[in-house]
Amino acid sequence: MRKILPLGVLLLLCTIGVHAQKKKNDVIKDLDSKSEKYSEIAHNIWDLAEMGYLEEQSSALLQETLSNEGFTIEKGIAGIPTAFKAEYGSGYPVIAILGEYDALPGLSQEAVPEKKSAGKAAGHACGHHLFGTASTAAAISVKNWMETNNIKGTIRFYGCPAEEGGSGKVYMVREGVFNDVDVALHWHPSSANAASAGAALANKSAKFRFYGVSAHAAGAPDRGRSALDGVEAMNAMVNMMREHIPQEARIHYVITNGGKAPNVVPDFAEVYYYARHNRRDVVVDMFDRMVKAAEGAALGTGTTMKYEMIGGTHELLPNLTVQKIMYDNLEKVGGVTYNEEEKAFAEKISATLGKGAPEISSAEKIQPYKETARAYGSTDVGDVSYTVPTAGLGTATWVPGTPAHSWQAVAAGGMSIGSKGMMVAAKTLALTAMDIFENPKTVETAKKELEERRGKDFKYIPMLGNRPPALDYRK
Ligand SMILES: [Zn+2]
Repeated sequence: MRKILPLGVLLLLCTIGVHAQKKKNDVIKDLDSKSEKYSEIAHNIWDLAEMGYLEEQSSALLQETLSNEGFTIEKGIAGIPTAFKAEYGSGYPVIAILGEYDALPGLSQEAVPEKKSAGKAAGHACGHHLFGTASTAAAISVKNWMETNNIKGTIRFYGCPAEEGGSGKVYMVREGVFNDVDVALHWHPSSANAASAGAALANKSAKFRFYGVSAHAAGAPDRGRSALDGVEAMNAMVNMMREHIPQEARIHYVITNGGKAPNVVPDFAEVYYYARHNRRDVVVDMFDRMVKAAEGAALGTGTTMKYEMIGGTHELLPNLTVQKIMYDNLEKVGGVTYNEEEKAFAEKISATLGKGAPEISSAEKIQPYKETARAYGSTDVGDVSYTVPTAGLGTATWVPGTPAHSWQAVAAGGMSIGSKGMMVAAKTLALTAMDIFENPKTVETAKKELEERRGKDFKYIPMLGNRPPALDYRK
């Protein structure tokens, strides 16, 4: 039976609704009025293209932006010089917005619609320059709204370095920097607008180093023991292992050092491995078998082997309570509409993406909400999502159909298409934080959901063990 509300109550509810809408529209306007400033910040970080744990200037720029707006900054958290926390307000609830700013090695590209290196060591092929900037913009606009409307609670921005293979957030989670956070919000650059329950694989990565004996490869080969043989023997065994691991698993490697000259038996060689699956127990098992393969390879080639854990992340744990709020806000904000110049740029990029690339007009749309997703990447947001209720979204910062880690992603991210997508994310994050501040009950529901999903006996065990932050992994 439906309850019929008295007219007075209905009118009051309508007024509250209209009032809430107005506040949201004000925040959207506030962000729109600053979009040029934020594009400039993002472009500076894009230009700097600093790699994991080396993001000194990018991190400093975001710190300065937040500090100028009245945030209190704590830098160098969790033993990482480029990690920081920026805070405004006090008390419950504590809402965190995550930001990243690391670039990828070897993906330098100019902001033009054809492949053209900018001649740098790295490029923002995962759009983390937009990630850090939009999250900063969202935190600032939420702070302005809190100030104007006397809202209780704390808004925080977390500057999270080295997402690409450096597992920055894992050290931050391990150190407990998220322990008093009630809800964490994040986003990621993408080629579509979506706020479905995300997915990401658990992952473990390590560098396996083999040590042999060098000798003249022709004059005295019997005196040498090749470290490269160790690497190759390990790879052969791991490649055979692929037949006997779960279907959905992923293993990949690059030989980062294979010796210097064919006529010198290499006394050192190194191979860098990733193992992934959507269940971390499977990853741990596969990784242990890879270590055995490495040990066997060393034994058989007369070399010795040592390995160093580099990264390790949990799979992503969605929180539908917060996710649905985020989706509703993304729908309200809407997608990305290109002007003529952007359309021409997008068409050129689209032509390089091969058959099956979606229509470029799909950047205007919001993808339908889904509660189950499949994805084959990994993110250190996974560890945050096991610690606090976490929700995220993706926005069309890249031309539809663009894969992450491509020159096309660097190109679009370096011009106005990237900035437009970034502002969609900033607005959606801000509106979602506002909804939670105004309905703190959501926090309790979200926390209950987190507890149920991760299970009663859950204990956080970092996948990378107790190693200190791998600050030099990109050096
Ligand atoms: Zn990324």
